[in-house]
Amino acid sequence: MTPATRPLVAVVGGGIAGLAAAWELVGASGGAGEGAGDRLTPDVVVIEAEGRLGGKLQSMPFAGRTVDLGADAFLARRPEATRLVDELGASDDLVGVGTSGTSLLAGGALRPLPDGLVLGIPTRWWALARSGVLSRREWLRMGYDLVAPRAAGPRTTTDRAVGDLVAGRLGRGVVDRLVDPLVGGIHAGGVDTLSAAATFPALLEAWHQPGSLVRRLDPRRTAAVSPPSPPAGAGSDRPAPVFWSLAGGTASLVGRLEQGLRAAGATFRLGTRVRALSRTASGWTIELDPAEDDERYLPADGVVLATPARTTAALLGRHAPRSARILAAVEHASVAVVTVSLPSSAWLAPRTGTGFLVPRREAIRGRPYLVTGCTYLSDKWPLLARDGDVLVRLSVGRLGDRRHEELDDDELTTAVLAELGTIVPLSSGAIATSVTRWAGAFPQYAVGHLERMATIDGEIADLPGLALAGATYRGVGIPACIGTGREAAAAVRRDLARSHPGLPRSDRSRQSEVGRP
Ligand SMILES: Cc1cc2nc3c(=O)[nH]c(=O)nc-3n(C[C@H](O)[C@H](O)[C@H](O)COP(=O)(O)OP(=O)(O)OC[C@H]3O[C@@H](n4cnc5c(N)ncnc54)[C@H](O)[C@@H]3O)c2cc1C
Repeated sequence: MTPATRPLVAVVGGGIAGLAAAWELVGASGGAGEGAGDRLTPDVVVIEAEGRLGGKLQSMPFAGRTVDLGADAFLARRPEATRLVDELGASDDLVGVGTSGTSLLAGGALRPLPDGLVLGIPTRWWALARSGVLSRREWLRMGYDLVAPRAAGPRTTTDRAVGDLVAGRLGRGVVDRLVDPLVGGIHAGGVDTLSAAATFPALLEAWHQPGSLVRRLDPRRTAAVSPPSPPAGAGSDRPAPVFWSLAGGTASLVGRLEQGLRAAGATFRLGTRVRALSRTASGWTIELDPAEDDERYLPADGVVLATPARTTAALLGRHAPRSARILAAVEHASVAVVTVSLPSSAWLAPRTGTGFLVPRREAIRGRPYLVTGCTYLSDKWPLLARDGDVLVRLSVGRLGDRRHEELDDDELTTAVLAELGTIVPLSSGAIATSVTRWAGAFPQYAVGHLERMATIDGEIADLPGLALAGATYRGVGIPACIGTGREAAAAVRRDLARSHPGLPRSDRSRQSEVGRP
């Protein structure tokens, strides 16, 4: 490579983590951040196996609207997604959730979740008692936490399963009825294996203190759960919602990013799978399938792997064997969503909040429900509301429950609508339905996850120009994925700055233009 040539970074995987990495690499953030003016701005190519960008962010036209089929919201409390939206000049398009509250199926009936839950842990005794989600015995067992003297959990315990910690202090009822549906639901997993350090660090911290776990987690007594702050441009006269989406749906973030990236000079190879990665004296060679213009091998100075764990494991192979083994062993849960339009008149009971969750232990005719949750899409997102119908999304599948995979789309739709009909009275069938399957979508953060991720970090740090991003590492939510993408990009750029000391640095004025396409 001649000294004047800009280095090339290949971002493998065009999901939200990969796109965020590409955005950071092209320097399109308008110069935000430390040392922005000194950044080396490489050429960037995003290589995506599918014929579309976005990964688990996807939408489709349905019943006259654009409906998200994967992620439909992002958490407002974390700054990464709202910052990105701001950089894309799209803050005015943020839309907040139109209603609040969620219900829980308990003993076959829907009951609103009580106020004061911290990721499923109740902190208000009387609100919990009134909600009826726990039996009297379960509620009394929980009260033990207040009165029984508790020693602090040993500091030497760096991680435990969320379910273990909660069951020991508050009883199994709280785990099965509340914490599993809420924390497990985020990962489509189960709290008996999910790592507290990775998924609920405030719980582990509280467990390390003496006394009542509930008191330690109570937001009225601690700053454990800080209130969401409104992002720039979103108007500050009303309290910010807990979740945001965008006009056009959460997946419209993908199109906005693509537009900004193209304006900044990034290129895309869609429908191209990366088969292998080899190290060269000056960087990396990427094997593409299919080859483009007969070129099967693409030389790159840097690589961000923003692919799911198993693909990343296969690509890392002999370069980082310990990381590859760790990643290959990450379990994944498969889910599907059934999107349904029902006549408004068919729904014979009032709907409250954004929907309901179905705990694992709820059963219908002696078998656990297929449905794990229901989102009232047209109540949650006012832009989706139309006279005449109600849009809902029924979710199925979680770790240990793959029954949906044995049903074809028609059978699955019939089964979930039949279950819905036992939970809420419905007077007629659906106007339109659609099934979307997400195989192996949710990586499971088993106990010890963060330590394993630290091992990966250590091994990858010895491979200059390579970095990893995505839902596998430090959070499955959109903001966390964006965060890992940007961090991976920054790490690759630092390596390139060392290996290309003579190259010119980025130009802030050019960045500002592309940051506001
Ligand atoms: C149904 C559902 C609902 C969800 N709801 C929410 C929500 O409301 N809020 C929220 O914050 N999160 C939600 N999530 C989680 C969130 O959407 C994901 O964790 C996140 O989008 C993952 O992004 P990613 O970039 O890490 O991975 P992905 O989106 O999986 O992207 C990885 C990309 O890599 C590509 N790829 C794979 N192999 C190769 C290869 N060899 N070569 C090239 N490309 C390759 C894939 O095709 C894919 O596009 C939801 C997820 C699902 C499935």
